[in-house]
Amino acid sequence: MGSNYLTSLADWCREAGLHVHEVDGWQSRARSSGGYESGRPWAIMWHHTASSTSAQNDVNYICYNCPDAPVSNFLLDRDGHVWVCAAGATNTNGKGGPIGFSKGVVPLDSMNSYAVSIEAANNGLGEPWPQEQIDAYFTLNNVLASHLGLNPDDCCTHHEWAPDRKIDPATANAVQGPWQPGSVTSSGTWSQVDILQEAIERAAGTRPPDPLPPEDDTVTDEDVQRIALAVWDTRMQLAGGTSSGSLLVDAAELDDNDVERIALKVWDTPMILADGMSSGTLLTMIQDIVERIEALGG
Ligand SMILES: [Zn+2]
Repeated sequence: MGSNYLTSLADWCREAGLHVHEVDGWQSRARSSGGYESGRPWAIMWHHTASSTSAQNDVNYICYNCPDAPVSNFLLDRDGHVWVCAAGATNTNGKGGPIGFSKGVVPLDSMNSYAVSIEAANNGLGEPWPQEQIDAYFTLNNVLASHLGLNPDDCCTHHEWAPDRKIDPATANAVQGPWQPGSVTSSGTWSQVDILQEAIERAAGTRPPDPLPPEDDTVTDEDVQRIALAVWDTRMQLAGGTSSGSLLVDAAELDDNDVERIALKVWDTPMILADGMSSGTLLTMIQDIVERIEALGG
């Protein structure tokens, strides 16, 4: 039995500016395996409910009425409000994988005890996804990643985990707002690559509401390393179409054209993220990455 219950979930969400509903008893709700093992969760799983009902009915199903309750840690409703349903491990992911994340590879059929899971209210058949809900999806993903010590792209769609069984989240062409995910199945499943990229960009773009005093407005070595690693991970995933656990395998298969293309993008992205905050350390870090990529291309 795991003993790690994520009892700060509601506070984290409020801290991120999300509108939060706490479902009675969420702090101790879990699947039969209890809380998470020490050091987990390793991943954030993205789903849709495949429902067309009220948020309260979705919550009742997730927490009580489903034979496999609790289904997920969160319901993200159509208004972009977050309902905190469970602090322990939940049952929404089922058979699938294995798949890699920054903390390691989640073994075959084991995601339920490795992931914190979000069910977003949508029928998955073309119902519009309001921009408020999309924005809240990324905000929730990124605040979870931040507090769990994960990267913003340590997330995964249900389809990516179980491609033969699951299409969620969908549909891509029903997503409203400026972010427009590609579609990777005939059912309109959102592109995992597009989600990861957007999560990283939104995390990197986060700014405090008020300008920091000048002495704090600097790029630290830690910032540089975090951004560089995130960029590296994303570009590897874009190149290989898989997640960071398979990074070395995929990188070894890159040809020279891929290496050049990735190197240029890795070079460009941090320059954009750094926007006006010049740093000699940042340049050194980018050069290191480019050299690593070139070395991989052999
Ligand atoms: Zn699902």
